[in-house]
Amino acid sequence: MEQLVDSYGRHIKSMRISITDKCNFRCTYCMPAEGLPWLKKPEILTYEEIVRISRVAVDMGIEQIRLTGGEPLVRRDVPDLVYQLHQLPGLRSLSLTTNGVLLKDQARPLAEAGLTRINVSLDSLVREKFAKLTRRDQLDRVLIGLEELEKYPSIHPIKVNAVAMRDFTEEEVLDFVQLARRKAYVVRWIEFMPLDADQIWRKEDILTGAELKAIIEAKYGPLVPVRGGDPSETARRYTFSDGIGEIGFINPVSEPFCSTCDRIRLTADGQLRTCLFATEETDLRAVVRSDADDEQLAQTIRRAVWHKELKHYIGDKRFKRANRSMSMIGG
Ligand code: SAM
Ligand code: SF4
Repeated sequence: MEQLVDSYGRHIKSMRISITDKCNFRCTYCMPAEGLPWLKKPEILTYEEIVRISRVAVDMGIEQIRLTGGEPLVRRDVPDLVYQLHQLPGLRSLSLTTNGVLLKDQARPLAEAGLTRINVSLDSLVREKFAKLTRRDQLDRVLIGLEELEKYPSIHPIKVNAVAMRDFTEEEVLDFVQLARRKAYVVRWIEFMPLDADQIWRKEDILTGAELKAIIEAKYGPLVPVRGGDPSETARRYTFSDGIGEIGFINPVSEPFCSTCDRIRLTADGQLRTCLFATEETDLRAVVRSDADDEQLAQTIRRAVWHKELKHYIGDKRFKRANRSMSMIGG
């Protein structure tokens, strides 16, 4: 099938699929304390619909699929979906982004179903700070979930992602570095973006990757770049002079990577988004629920991709907030 390419010549290889808008956490940078008006069941794509859209997208060159949410593991039978996606010929990587709280029971079925990579979000290693940020006192369960993952080497690497926020993250940076050096986890920090439902984001709250790197280098000396990743890789990857441990910085605000962006996103209610900060979407749910055939579905996806946004404008006068917050998009 004709490959997915946008009007700026970017080849689209990666699709993030949100499988639910619901979540068992209420991270302050993402959701309001009381949650959001959840989608109703009939509004959400069924697994069958997700697999059909994925199959067509993989035929057009999508090589990586990442399941996300909301919290993906609150939806039932996620391993069944993983198993079906894993069968798609041409898919190179199938991953999941999770807050980790349900991994104790889910790690094994996910590994058995064919999950190959995982990102666990973890912003603090201090119980009180974790509880304040997520509004749930469940740090222990996340750490147990991470340990459980270590038993399944087919899920590799295990990435731990922390949102970097000024006056929150700095004091724990070195503890996270220790975690990356002690455990087989790749630890990455991602800059705080204006995608929070409560609109608390302020420019002053961004803690850049460069600032974090300086804190780490003050203790460990110059970090050593890890080369050889994908050109569309979002993280700047580093190891230490002794080669033990890997860390990374994802800097969408201070060093935007829009020019090499190869991603599209599918929301839980079947809307295709060609940018995290998109203000418009393409309704794939309507297409899969009509009598359109796969070629018509492919054409709809191709047309949307052609109009992929050039870049986000965070920090610029032209910046417009996305029409949904992070948990409704699928980060
Ligand atoms: N619930 C899962 C989790 O937390 O990993 C998956 C969905 S969550 C929306 C995906 C990722 O987006 C998480 O790593 C989270 O930390 C990140 N995120 C949420 N809001 C953000 C924001 N305003 N800026 C930067 N990252 C954010
Ligand atoms: Fe839930 Fe993830 Fe948003 Fe936190 S970041 S509230 S865990 S969707």
